[in-house]
Amino acid sequence: MVAVGPAYLLQQGCLSVEPGYVPADRVGLEIDRLESAFSAARQSLQNLRQQIPDSTPQDVAEFLQAHLLMLEDRGLIDPTRELIRTEHFSAEWALQQHRDALVQAFESMEDPYLRSRREDVDHVVGQVMSFLRQEENAREKALEGDISGCVIVAHDIPPAEAILLHHRGAAAFVTELGGPLSHTAILARSLNIPMVMGVHNATHYLHPGEILVVDGGTGTVLADADASILHHYRKQRAFLRERRIQLQGLLKKPAESRDGIPIRLLANLELPEDVQSARANGAVGIGLYRTEFLYMNRSQPPDEEEHFQIYREILQGLGGIPLTIRTLDLGADKLIREAEPCGSACNPALGLRAIRLCLREPELFRPQLRAILRLSALGPVRLLLPMLTSVQEIEAVFALLTQIRRELAQEGIPFDPTLPVGGMIEVPAAAICATAFAARLDFLSIGTNDLIQYSLAIDRVDDAVSYLYDPLHPAVLRLIRRVIEAGRQLGKPVAMCGEMAGDPRYTRLLLGLGLREFSMQPGSLLEVKEVVRAVRIEPLSREIDRLYPHLDRISAETLMDHLNRLH
Ligand code: PEP
Ligand code: MG
Repeated sequence: MVAVGPAYLLQQGCLSVEPGYVPADRVGLEIDRLESAFSAARQSLQNLRQQIPDSTPQDVAEFLQAHLLMLEDRGLIDPTRELIRTEHFSAEWALQQHRDALVQAFESMEDPYLRSRREDVDHVVGQVMSFLRQEENAREKALEGDISGCVIVAHDIPPAEAILLHHRGAAAFVTELGGPLSHTAILARSLNIPMVMGVHNATHYLHPGEILVVDGGTGTVLADADASILHHYRKQRAFLRERRIQLQGLLKKPAESRDGIPIRLLANLELPEDVQSARANGAVGIGLYRTEFLYMNRSQPPDEEEHFQIYREILQGLGGIPLTIRTLDLGADKLIREAEPCGSACNPALGLRAIRLCLREPELFRPQLRAILRLSALGPVRLLLPMLTSVQEIEAVFALLTQIRRELAQEGIPFDPTLPVGGMIEVPAAAICATAFAARLDFLSIGTNDLIQYSLAIDRVDDAVSYLYDPLHPAVLRLIRRVIEAGRQLGKPVAMCGEMAGDPRYTRLLLGLGLREFSMQPGSLLEVKEVVRAVRIEPLSREIDRLYPHLDRISAETLMDHLNRLH
């Protein structure tokens, strides 16, 4: 995705404040200033809520509500007032001090869900801070102004603003904070907006009005591009548009190789609204619905009824194709945008995340499982467990499911007793022991994003080591093949739902390795279908069999070269 447009700089309340004091006779005025900033921030958020289009995801609207509640809570304003009154701090300094105390309290909480709420504290305090510094007017104006076709450059863009900016025609986003898994990045992808994050000091180096090129695919932002570069990118944009039209021609054609092997192409879902795009791109099912988004940007996790209503709406929207709901995969990088200091878990990717968190906190897990079971009475639904490491975890989930089935039966609530239960294979231990997992589960899904992270020991959100993130590493390919083989031996379907599955450069390789189910972001479905329809799988498999013993000795380029030469 490429966008070319003038830079539009959004200012944001910055949380680093110099110590400031006020004389005793100005304390009253300073408290008034604080009160006014709070009420202006409340007003601004109420305005924002009213302007949000009806199609806005419910969770984003709820997150605005949660922020409003925080602004109304005396627990935020009263201690800040006290600091002004007793210590004679300036309003900004008092707010900063209270914010630090709150963040510390959140960070020391054992519950990772509550710990993640510090992000909300920062957003709310940032908003009040902006009004204290009278910056918010500029931001509000920007949100209301004519930004059609502009590239929005900001320190950070919260998800609700991203939706508004999109609604007003913003062409692309560039932010100083964040990585590809932040909430806004997930949203931008599903809204088809090119976005580049983690561009340090972007708001200093980029100037309002200058023409920027934003290439979301390569993560490139070009400023001050000369006429020939602009021409090149504009041509590329036009070419990509043409290409999308051309790919539409494949929509009704089957995903079948030239030698007649059918391939299942499924979609990944981040937000309920992605259902339309999954169908518009011909997905034959949803291979991965990431439910984490339901838990983000709000003060309380969803209850069973909310889960059920949202899932039911999605299922109805799918018109009969199957829905694979992955249970909560919170923890690690999923809620944290900025690097946080070491808390109870110094290495959160290896900590209490996903299924580990769910088994530790059944009160978080049970409402989701009950809702999925209830949903199974209404249509084709599958349950997918993230980040399995040992078969004991599967047994623990089965025990919980048995209890819940019993409860539902007693309550007279219908469910499908044969609801298929599958597991994500994304930890090397699970890939190595894949037969044991395949034996207990109904299907497997390879999560290459994490499988690569864990097998190559590289943090998937750390820029500094991203050059090592290599889907073609022989160790990764061996693990993938092992999982596919395990599924084949035990007659259990194996899908892949990591980013690798949606990258058409790897389609031949994965087909040759024996993969027959691919789940990806809807925008990639037709490109992958194009490759599937252009190849014969038998020769690819034979070539992989021939090269497999030599994988450690041949380069990735040689391997791909061999496969690309086959017709
Ligand atoms: C994966 O790890 O490949 C995956 C699909 O899950 P997520 O990206 O949500 O961790
Ligand atoms: Mg994963």
